[in-house]
Amino acid sequence: MDTVAVIGAGQMGSGIAQTVAAHGMRVLLADVDLATAKAAHAKIDSALGRLVGKGKIEIADAEATLARIEPVADYAPMDAADLIIEAATEKEAVKQAIFEKAGKVLGANAVMASNTSSIPITRMANYAPDAARFIGLHFFNPVPVMKLIEVIPGLATAQDTTDRTIAFAQRLGKEVVLSQDEPGFVVNRILLPMINEAVFVLGQSTASIEDIDKGCRLGLNHPMGPLQLADFVGLDTCLDIIRVLHDTTGDTKYRPAPLLVKYVEAGWLGRKTGKGFYDYSGEEPVPTR
Ligand code: NAD
Repeated sequence: MDTVAVIGAGQMGSGIAQTVAAHGMRVLLADVDLATAKAAHAKIDSALGRLVGKGKIEIADAEATLARIEPVADYAPMDAADLIIEAATEKEAVKQAIFEKAGKVLGANAVMASNTSSIPITRMANYAPDAARFIGLHFFNPVPVMKLIEVIPGLATAQDTTDRTIAFAQRLGKEVVLSQDEPGFVVNRILLPMINEAVFVLGQSTASIEDIDKGCRLGLNHPMGPLQLADFVGLDTCLDIIRVLHDTTGDTKYRPAPLLVKYVEAGWLGRKTGKGFYDYSGEEPVPTR
């Protein structure tokens, strides 16, 4: 793969663009408009600058990485892409519109992938021009740091598509877990019920935010607690995923915690808005309850 298009330049899309460009590939980066894609480009510039500051990469590598990322206003240049990765908001209607629009320019041999956390790949393949070349490619946050990628073939995905997608993930230096197309795939199927349960525990005043996180850090040896992790993922994304698990399985064990719904309705979405289960406006995060 020489050229990769990334549609949706939020937390994940920016991280994907940075990682792909750092591994020598050209990236076309799109969002709802050119200004948003350019703003993401500027954030990637800052992220690379921090890596240079910490001595993790050379200035020349940071500059070369940034130069390989081109913010684009529309999808027309993506006809040159070997792979189009959708990383937009976790709403099926949003993704459907993207696949239908990007499908018009998808190259004859190119692969179309979704970074969805939970929406069924087999169903979304219907929105793409060729279900045999459609696949789930699930990165983890923050993308440049996290070692894992889940690859999720849908029912109609061709073996060649799966093979090429795994090779691409490995070229990024990532480890691959292959998952069948079941709700939440592997990692989120296990993680999201844990985060949701942590919010139930908080909502029932069983323990404070800090003690819930401390309990999981020290009692389970997790590097961060579930509420802190939820803030990293984005509380809106967590709610969207748990709702997909609930809707697709019909199993009430996945019902969203009312307090999670309340935080999202308040616009307290975690790190990306500066406030979630913790407030990030000061030097140190402070619990919001
Ligand atoms: P985010 O809110 O940070 O970014 C979403 C981006 O999509 C925004 O920049 C938004 O402007 C853009 N967007 C919305 N509608 C669009 C459209 N029609 N066309 C182009 N761009 C559009 O969200 P995120 O955390 O980056 O999540 C993006 C996707 O990645 C979701 O599917 C999510 O489930 C998945 N994901 C998230 C995580 C995580 O930890 N946050 C991890 C793995 C996968």
